Amino acid sequence: MTDVIDAAARVFSPDYATARRRFVHAAAQAGGKVMAIANPRTGPAGELLATDIVTFGADNASKALVMVSATHGVEGFCGSGCQLDWLEQGGPRRIPADVQVIVVHAINPHGFAWVRRVTEEGVDLNRNFVNFAQPLPTNRLYTQIADDAVPEEWIPGTNEPDPALLAAARTHGHDPVVRALVAGQYTHPTGLFYGGTEPTWSRRTLETILANFDIGRRKVVGVIDFHTGMGQYGMGELMIKDTATSTAMQRAIRWWGPSVAQMGITSADAGPRTGLIWNGFAAVAGDRVTFATLEYGTYLTYPTVLQALRGDHWLHGRSGLPATDPDYVKIKAALKEAFFPDHPMWRELVLFRARQVIRMTLAGLDAE
Ligand SMILES: [Zn+2]
Repeated sequence: MTDVIDAAARVFSPDYATARRRFVHAAAQAGGKVMAIANPRTGPAGELLATDIVTFGADNASKALVMVSATHGVEGFCGSGCQLDWLEQGGPRRIPADVQVIVVHAINPHGFAWVRRVTEEGVDLNRNFVNFAQPLPTNRLYTQIADDAVPEEWIPGTNEPDPALLAAARTHGHDPVVRALVAGQYTHPTGLFYGGTEPTWSRRTLETILANFDIGRRKVVGVIDFHTGMGQYGMGELMIKDTATSTAMQRAIRWWGPSVAQMGITSADAGPRTGLIWNGFAAVAGDRVTFATLEYGTYLTYPTVLQALRGDHWLHGRSGLPATDPDYVKIKAALKEAFFPDHPMWRELVLFRARQVIRMTLAGLDAE
């Protein structure tokens, strides 16, 4: 236990550049094969951005565990710390035979570095995995409430739902409005949970990784995708997209027991979503992949987390404020806190659960 407390005080980084440097260093120290895929943009201090990957175990292992951080940029503060902890506490020495572990650090480095949930294209990567050759999913209610979701005027620091959104909730119902906000939308580029019009750099990078590491040829693939912002404070819920009777869900229950939750019907969840990163894995490995979103609760999703997100979208989509503006700084601080609470208890809970889930996943893979 003291080990978790010490680690929780150590492994989480204050910014992307620090997190990246520590990850690459620890990955090399642990004897992994490290590589980087450079992002064409730079960070706020001009720093280079990249998705870094380290692998342990044979490239031709029949089973694989993929751990992904920063799908939602700012959530990388949490996921990166969990990955660093695994590297630093000897995780690579406890990998079962015939399993390769592929650790993907900052799949959305731009969002991580700039403290945004979205990618450099303004896209929610976890809504971007749709087939853009087909008609895109529709979200009619979002279109109706788009100007309420990201209003023209915004008072930084506010944690009260504004009258327009409350009015929308009265008209359309609270739950339908929340579902419309988070489901994914493909019509408002500066809006919330925007899925884009084409594959983002981060999606293409992930697809490159899946191809380069032959994920489609593995017998079984486990995925842990680290997220924050929904659920009970500090609690890590394993959310599974597959249906209750599917092979992938049965495997999830074998690995993690009854704590797994089916996405769409859980407490931490707010209904169906489109274009999930899960779709990217399923596209190459079908039901041989068991994909868990390890979702850590922070503050109340509504209003606290949603307010922080709305503020950030207002900041980048409507305000025109420079990074030196006090309101810019205030909005960024609120967003970071909403997805990465600055409290030892939260971080200790996060690490304990991460270690537990990784250990159980590797044991599960070993038994397959
Ligand atoms: Zn997330």
